[in-house]
Amino acid sequence: PNQFEFCSGCGVKLQRNDSKKLGYVPKENATICQRCYKIKHYNEISSITLEEDDFLKILSHVGQTKSLVLNIVDIFDFEGSLISGLKRFVGSNPIVMVVNKVDLLPRNMNLNKVMNWVKKQAKEYGLNVVDVVLCSAKKNIGFQDVLEVLSKYRKGRDIYVVGATNVGKSTLINRLINDFSDLDEELTTSRYPGTTLNLVKIPLEDGKYIVDTPGIVYTSRMTEIISKHDLQKITPEQSLKPRVYQLNERQTLFFGALARFDFVQGERQSFTCFISNSVYVHRTKLDNADELYENQKGEMLSPPSIKDLETLPLFTKHALRIPKNERLDVLISGLGWIKCNGDNGAELVIHVPKGIKVILRESML
Ligand code: GDP
Repeated sequence: PNQFEFCSGCGVKLQRNDSKKLGYVPKENATICQRCYKIKHYNEISSITLEEDDFLKILSHVGQTKSLVLNIVDIFDFEGSLISGLKRFVGSNPIVMVVNKVDLLPRNMNLNKVMNWVKKQAKEYGLNVVDVVLCSAKKNIGFQDVLEVLSKYRKGRDIYVVGATNVGKSTLINRLINDFSDLDEELTTSRYPGTTLNLVKIPLEDGKYIVDTPGIVYTSRMTEIISKHDLQKITPEQSLKPRVYQLNERQTLFFGALARFDFVQGERQSFTCFISNSVYVHRTKLDNADELYENQKGEMLSPPSIKDLETLPLFTKHALRIPKNERLDVLISGLGWIKCNGDNGAELVIHVPKGIKVILRESML
């Protein structure tokens, strides 16, 4: 237990359990939360997460301001990292979509094609964004484009940065702090009305601010429900190396024990997996799959480890049909996607922990 109950910086209740949540202190008897400490001493923001309800309160607050909304999404989990209802909540404020982590796309990718795909998807989701930028905050790709788009659409307004967790929001904002803001001034925090939450404000030259909002947690993404250790395994480090499998019908692929892909019916065809190399892919016969899973989950089929498997929801099935002559991806939110390359359709069943989002989409690549 801490001798000090509340942060001397922002007033939030201190806690030592969860480093991603508000009020975290790494050691006993700290008087200031880690987030305030970093802001104060390093001019650096750290990721803070929020559950959906609180997050939506903040979004609707943004809707009442006159601002530019910068929505960061993750190209590796595009649909999983979209914020549902964003357009409705931010009202008439323009949204710029920054698609981060493009360094993960396979080498020699045509980024124009990816850009068109993103714009089309955004439109289908009714997002109505004024512009889209592809970038990598980590590898410093496309950052100049981000700066240009912000200058173009900002028109003297504050910029609110919103995104799901793990999309690279803090990485990007810390870059913005270095390249865009007026560093003579310090970062400040402002109390968000009615909560203990403080939004970090990064001053701009014209007296306006970049405002960082907490990342929203979606438990429909594999990244949010697995252990830290397994998270490292399913998060690709470098550009994806697609793995191609020629399958006959009634064959199955296991992605560790995190997901199972049954090719139930269709002509022999290839499936291309865009999944981190650290996830073991095992091919077997559909008829053997149940037994193999029971015997090998957490062992040969890993991640996760046996211990971590206990904390995951049980598998549920998603039956999917690929129509003839369509090029579709099966996205397993947070884990990656499988591109189906056949011309004559396929019947698939995808097994994932209950609650994890599985969708069919037009192929990205
Ligand atoms: P936040 O939760 O949205 O604030 O995300 P963070 O900035 O903490 O980043 C989450 C994870 O994504 C970290 O492991 C980062 O190293 C990684 N990351 C951030 N930006 C990029 C990027 O452009 N490319 C890749 N490959 N990883 C990134």
